[in-house]
Amino acid sequence: MTTATAAEAAYVVAALLFILSLAGLSQHRTSRSGVVWGIAGMVIALAATVGLASRSISATGLVLIAVATAVGAGIGLWRARVVEMTGMPELIAIMHSLVGLAAAFVGCNGYLDVDAGGHTGQEITGSLLRIHHAEVFIGVFIGAVTFTGSVVAYLKLSARIKSRPLMLPGRHILNLGALAAFAVLTVAFVARPHMGLLIAVTVVALALGAHLVASIGGGDMPVVVSMLNSYSGWAAAASGFLLANNLLIVTGALVGSSGAYLSYIMCRAMNRSFLSVIAGGFGGETAVAGDGAEQGEHREISAEETAELLQDASSVIITPGYGMAVAQAQYPVAELARKLRERGVDVRFGIHPVAGRLPGHMNVLLAEANVPYDIVLEMDEINDDFAATSVVLVIGANDTVNPSAAEDPASPIAGMPVLHVWQAAQVVVFKRSMATGYAGVQNPLFFRENSQMLFGDAKQRVEDILRSLDATTAPAPAMVGTNR
Ligand code: NDP
Repeated sequence: MTTATAAEAAYVVAALLFILSLAGLSQHRTSRSGVVWGIAGMVIALAATVGLASRSISATGLVLIAVATAVGAGIGLWRARVVEMTGMPELIAIMHSLVGLAAAFVGCNGYLDVDAGGHTGQEITGSLLRIHHAEVFIGVFIGAVTFTGSVVAYLKLSARIKSRPLMLPGRHILNLGALAAFAVLTVAFVARPHMGLLIAVTVVALALGAHLVASIGGGDMPVVVSMLNSYSGWAAAASGFLLANNLLIVTGALVGSSGAYLSYIMCRAMNRSFLSVIAGGFGGETAVAGDGAEQGEHREISAEETAELLQDASSVIITPGYGMAVAQAQYPVAELARKLRERGVDVRFGIHPVAGRLPGHMNVLLAEANVPYDIVLEMDEINDDFAATSVVLVIGANDTVNPSAAEDPASPIAGMPVLHVWQAAQVVVFKRSMATGYAGVQNPLFFRENSQMLFGDAKQRVEDILRSLDATTAPAPAMVGTNR
């Protein structure tokens, strides 16, 4: 068997492992094995690629590849070990930027390589050369858009720049103009390739990527993250065509299509059309909506009173949000759920698809704290049950439980599906202040008659409740009235 055939066979195995990995990652129970499949696939892919390259690369070249791989792997390991769960979205965004940058470099190299006679062993001419130049151009364009888009997403998610959308006058015209310029430049480049045209499209793409993400508001950032994930996949696939590497094409297409599908699911969960997300602007009214004026009085509750409320409850739903991740309150929350269930209370969790700061954020935290999977329900599965629930504990969630999304057509988040927590008999909201959530929109839930605020760090407050529960003997559960 030749090295090339062995490498192609290894690529097929790696591609199958990547598909298994995606299948594993689609469910909590199998997600750990999904990660292992992915690592195995990547090890095989790297070994096969280096093996293939070793035929035409000098010893010095191989040493350089080994050093680059070791440095990259070292940085990746270090970042993955130190990152907080709350910092995952920005880490993912900055990783996407590297994929985009690599795709842009591969594209430029593909042009220079062919222009200099190439070292692929076969001369490209005629229509093949034109196709090659189109691949170069498209690869550089997608790569550069992904690069700056991801860098701006990183800056917004890490609060280094404001998450409010940049509303330039005529911004849609600017975006359409950039796409039209890309089309015209591509035709010109395919007809008469020139480095000047490649530089021009790079500049257009860098500006378009930055502007596209800068004009998207806070509430739409989850979709942007998964959209950039999709772009980075297509950028890698474009590199695969240029490098004639089948595995890169397959892997890029897997990442590109799964990212696009995730974006679609999230758009559906937020009741937003994909195009309106790309067009941006959501969240621009946050300053007005977030000032909290005309909302009325809120009521406060202590941890001890909350413990009493829970002891008398027959059913409890816990809806966690970003604040639970910040406070790292998942362990005492899991303990609270366990204690209440031991006392005969029906306890379940309601998870909003965009709760926290990345898709699946809450599921990961609850799994980490060993909350049984069968009591963790998605929004659609639990939304009809709130009206028959004694007590809802809103732990550090805000936008995802905001009734104005469902009831106020003028709200900046109108139409976004939310958890209907306000329909329960009693709602206790755990947060530190009356501040708004990520989208900067005030939440009328806090001022409802059946809502009470439990101020302070969520972890400390839940631990206070646990202490109060421990101090009392378990009474037989009695019913608190429900709204039904
Ligand atoms: P929000 O971001 O709307 O609100 C979180 C709340 O947690 C805040 O109001 C804050 O109030 C409170 N909080 C913060 N720290 C603590 C703490 N230590 N203890 C107690 N409370 C705390 O959260 P949601 O999860 O409801 O909504 C997620 C939002 O993030 C949505 O707008 C979503 O679109 C967006 N988003 C989601 C992403 C995803 O993929 N899931 C990615 C990017 C954005 P206070 O400061 O008063 O304590």
